[in-house]
Amino acid sequence: MVPAVDLIFVAILGGLWGSFANVCIYRLPKDKGVVSGRSHCPKCKKKIVWYDNIPIISYLILSGKCRKCKREISLHYFTVEYINIMSFLIIYFLFGISMTTILLMILSVSFLIIFLIDLKHFIIPNSLTFSLMILGFIKSFDPNLNSIFPNYINSLIGGFFGYGIIFSIIFFYRQIRKKEGMGLGDAKLLAVIGFWFGWISIPFVIFLSSIFALVFVIPDLIKKIKK
Ligand SMILES: [Zn+2]
Repeated sequence: MVPAVDLIFVAILGGLWGSFANVCIYRLPKDKGVVSGRSHCPKCKKKIVWYDNIPIISYLILSGKCRKCKREISLHYFTVEYINIMSFLIIYFLFGISMTTILLMILSVSFLIIFLIDLKHFIIPNSLTFSLMILGFIKSFDPNLNSIFPNYINSLIGGFFGYGIIFSIIFFYRQIRKKEGMGLGDAKLLAVIGFWFGWISIPFVIFLSSIFALVFVIPDLIKKIKK
């Protein structure tokens, strides 16, 4: 049994990091500092006081509206905090108090940030992918981590394999279709996964993401065929 106090602590941690993720999603693509500068309402530009800036809770108390201008605060802030709390709790359930848990929490916050920046701006910040690659490689020298993580040789192969496979797809796609299918950001992202989980994770991730992509593409195709 996991004690309730631990769960509350992990949930608060998840909320705070989710809130930090929101700041990154908003500021990283604009090259604004992530640490400096207080948060303000994007609509009326008024500074947000600390008690209106509590993850999840403030959003519910203010029922999703800015205290000053009463205009709606995007549900996206709430969703990011919520998803992050859930993923922190799941990681904690699976790996308890361990270095593996801390590493996976760092990875999941980062992926949440990357995913949402990519969704909004179609870019994947190098500052994030490169730091994750380095961290993924360095951590593979620690023999005491959970066996979901590979050793450093496997990690290194995974990183290059992940990058290389997307890079070659981009290359051949460009030769055949004369246009871009994917960006190098995707290659870097797969390199991150390779460095973190070893080469074996690469075909697995490609398989999963193809299914994921198909789920999105098929309804579109059916519409086109009907027309
Ligand atoms: Zn406002």
